[in-house]
Amino acid sequence: MFFPKVATLLSKYKEKNLLYAEKTLFLQAKTQTIKFNIKQTMKVLKFGGTSVGSVNGILSVKKIVEAEVEPVIVVVSAFSGITDELYKVANLACEGNKTYVAQFDMLVTRHMEVIDGVIADNKKTEVINLVQTQFTDLSNIFRGVFLIKDISTKIIDTIVSYGEVISSIIVANAITNAVHFDSRTFTKTENQFDKHIVDFEKTNHLIAESFSTLPQISVCGGFISTDRNTNFTTNLGRGGSDYTAAILAAALHASILEIWTDVDGFMTADPRIINNAYVIEKLSFIEAMELCNFGAKVIYPPTIFPVFHKNIPVKIKNTFNPEAEGTFISREKTGEAGKAIKGISSINDTSLITVQGLGMVGVIGVNHRIFRILAKNGISVFLVSQASSENTTSIGVRNADSAVAVEALRKEFDYEIAQGEINDIFSEDDLATVAIVGDNMKRTPGIAGKLFGTLGRNGINVVACAQGASETNISFVTDRKSLRKALNVIHDSFFLSEYQVLNIFVVGVGTVGGSLLNQIKKQQTKLMEQNSLKLNVVGITSSKKMLFLREGIDLETYAEDLKTKGADASPEKICNEILNMNIFNSVFVDCTANLHISNLYQTFLENNISVVAVNKIAASSSYEEYINLKETARRRGVKFLFETNVGAGLPIINTMNNLIYSGDHIQKMEAVLSGTLNFIFNTISSEIPISKAILMAKEAGYAEPDPRIDLSGKDVIRKLVILAREAGYKVEQEDVIKNLFIPDKYFAGSLDDFWKTVPELDAEFEEKRKALTAQGKRWRFVATMENGSCKVGLQEVDSTHPFYDLQGSNNIILITTERYNEFPMMIKGYGAGASVTSAGVFSDIISIANIR
Ligand code: ADP
Ligand code: ASP
Ligand code: MG
Repeated sequence: MFFPKVATLLSKYKEKNLLYAEKTLFLQAKTQTIKFNIKQTMKVLKFGGTSVGSVNGILSVKKIVEAEVEPVIVVVSAFSGITDELYKVANLACEGNKTYVAQFDMLVTRHMEVIDGVIADNKKTEVINLVQTQFTDLSNIFRGVFLIKDISTKIIDTIVSYGEVISSIIVANAITNAVHFDSRTFTKTENQFDKHIVDFEKTNHLIAESFSTLPQISVCGGFISTDRNTNFTTNLGRGGSDYTAAILAAALHASILEIWTDVDGFMTADPRIINNAYVIEKLSFIEAMELCNFGAKVIYPPTIFPVFHKNIPVKIKNTFNPEAEGTFISREKTGEAGKAIKGISSINDTSLITVQGLGMVGVIGVNHRIFRILAKNGISVFLVSQASSENTTSIGVRNADSAVAVEALRKEFDYEIAQGEINDIFSEDDLATVAIVGDNMKRTPGIAGKLFGTLGRNGINVVACAQGASETNISFVTDRKSLRKALNVIHDSFFLSEYQVLNIFVVGVGTVGGSLLNQIKKQQTKLMEQNSLKLNVVGITSSKKMLFLREGIDLETYAEDLKTKGADASPEKICNEILNMNIFNSVFVDCTANLHISNLYQTFLENNISVVAVNKIAASSSYEEYINLKETARRRGVKFLFETNVGAGLPIINTMNNLIYSGDHIQKMEAVLSGTLNFIFNTISSEIPISKAILMAKEAGYAEPDPRIDLSGKDVIRKLVILAREAGYKVEQEDVIKNLFIPDKYFAGSLDDFWKTVPELDAEFEEKRKALTAQGKRWRFVATMENGSCKVGLQEVDSTHPFYDLQGSNNIILITTERYNEFPMMIKGYGAGASVTSAGVFSDIISIANIR
């Protein structure tokens, strides 16, 4: 009587090309023992809340399950969000808040809508009645809670069980020929420290009994259970449906446990935090256990043990993309070549308790007492760190356990504390723990170095760390606000093969800032394709509005978005926002000429944010401030770049730096550094008086927003001071000797006054210009530095001078060094203009990304 079943099994196996199974069955058939020996293989498939929370989800589940060849047990969660809702409604009812009724009704409606979409018409009434009966009971319980305004754990456990009870009834009736089981009848727990612990002996026995004849498709709810003594409803903890599935798989020797969820598999990191996390093809049980113990929500941590114990592989699959391979978890040790770690996970709920004191050194039994007392209070410790000096033991626990743990430890060590042998015991709360995991870390030197080096470079402080001798996990504790950044930099450092991300804040969207954003927009795709560099503009600020977006601002629409969605901006707000964002690999680009913005650089550098400045104020301010900024950048391992401070996009500072790195020594510099002044002197003619030339320079976008900064020589002085400093000389602005061409009184009033009075200069200048032209000479505003002595002023140059032919707004610099001596090095080209300046900024940004 078994043979027809074997025959159908065989043909189905053939279809699936499972040759091994076919061979086994043949062998068994041949030896005529088939009747007795065939141990029917079966699978357990668990579908999470997101998989069953919608009509589409349940229809996918139905399709997946009905296509199975082997008998399957389907374990389902409550619809997504329902367990949370049930807790919420219970709370409202307990507070005597009438709105619980409306919330409850919404919950009922959601289930009824799904029933309508997934249950065949001829079964609808039956299923609605079944579910309605459950909701009536539940509503009575809520009414009781509302009237009494009190609730117990027992009642809460009963309330939340309805999520799985109801979802499993719906799914069982949506799948053709499925048989419904109530998992409370076979999952038994006992109470330990107010936690429900599975009684495996009873549970396994009851499972074997319940499934002694295995239907092709069985459906039951996960998570829910009953107390072995009282038979009251209990549960296996949040996320516990995975565990129910694993318990069933282990008890029934399933061929595989499949966890169906809403992502393509177990990923290198939490995809909600790391958007370029990717699916891990294979994991060992140990790796999976380490990762989910530390917060990889995709599997509830206790799930691994029962299947590991029975060597039943686990597959993580996506209900909404069943074609994706998913992740295979087995005993097999696997490793992608060149990758030492498999994944990163974290918990943002960490409290660190430190037991410390010189009296602990060499004393036997202190740790024993710590752990005994914590165990006695039911506190689970997930990280321990003790220095070899033995005077400090730090323990990582959940925030919720911290107060009880501190209390218990203080009591345990009250004598030693009173004697001063142990310091008072305290906890540091609101921390986060991160773990990097991989079997391949074993005996691979340098992993810890790389991890802590990466964290250090990014300004992330490590409060405690631990690595077990198994070498499959290195964990560290940091403050919670650094968690996201820590995960990003570690992920980038260990996995990011595909591309590198540079997060950019652009402040100032005037001529240069606007042009820069345009250039970034144009280059984004190319840089990604050719250099695997993702330029992600995460903040844009005008003088009035600011916009921040971690995922990246759309550069097509930023101007509009800034207006419509931007918040009011101020230097302080910008600073706070950027620090709060705490984003990795970030660079602050200052395209303003604002002192308050340049005052923020020090803070940013201190926080490991690189600074690229078009703004010259910082580099030309006091020598002390300049050196401080450079020193901070060096110390924090980030960059402070300001190439465009001198000569716009011309590579002057970079070239000087390179000369100095190679051991050369800069002795002298002669330069025309003001695009504006050069433009003005090249534009003045009998038709264009100086006042008009100034206006033209402004309109062409060469001049500073306030052109007096150019005309007074201030701009050139700033540039010369920056150059002299970069050449290695300690120079202040006051040290520069000035020979100006516009009398001081024109700079005294307001900008308006200036524009009104400046035409007074026209006639005199025209006189002088005529005389100069007659001599075959031209004016150039020249900056000179010789062994640290600086001066700026108007010079008359004849046609033999290299500056004579300097066109338009061009700049030129002659650099005399030990090596470039007889013939100085000459750099010449556009020295002003939005597009060349922003290109210079772009090049600073790219050099931070280090792809050149
Ligand atoms: P289900 O309802 O199916 O049980 P969960 O929400 O419990 O689903 O778990 C799946 C979610 O876990 C994913 O949607 C993802 O956001 C999150 N997650 C966290 N860490 C990881 C990781 N390392 N790999 C995959 N998913 C992860
Ligand atoms: N429904 C339960 C929860 O939300 C169990 C589960 O989804 O696994 O925690
Ligand atoms: Mg889950």
